[in-house]
Amino acid sequence: MLTFKGEMLIVPHEKLRKRVAEVLPDKVDSTFLQLMKEVIDETGAAGLAANQIGFNRRVIMFKDGEMYRWHINPKIISVSIEWEYDFESCLSIPDERGSYRVFRVPRYEWVEVTDSVDVGTFHHYSGFLARVVQHEIDHLNGILISDFGNEEIPVC
Ligand SMILES: [Zn+2]
Repeated sequence: MLTFKGEMLIVPHEKLRKRVAEVLPDKVDSTFLQLMKEVIDETGAAGLAANQIGFNRRVIMFKDGEMYRWHINPKIISVSIEWEYDFESCLSIPDERGSYRVFRVPRYEWVEVTDSVDVGTFHHYSGFLARVVQHEIDHLNGILISDFGNEEIPVC
């Protein structure tokens, strides 16, 4: 069994700021996907982008209930007119107290996604999952939640 021995990249690591190039779907094997699952399990994250753990691969994974979903070369092809604002944190943006900084981030209420695995299939995500998918795809484009500029200052 493959175990994650690397590190979660944290800001201001330059790899978090690069747009990740597309990958050939056959380059993303079950071993790699298993690795991403393990990192999600170990960290309790809602989702993960491959570049957060140092891999230059355009892959995201997230939990949908007990299920893991992933997209290789995900592309948002349709979005809602409505926006929703909600709080998000990110494994790549820890604070000094061993927790994570929280930002209020605008997201589309729903998105439709295609990928390189099942070409022609439209995956519809709404609510929380839509938020997670947008967060992870942002990572692949070098965008972080801190870019939205609405940090919530914790009450001490
Ligand atoms: Zn993140």
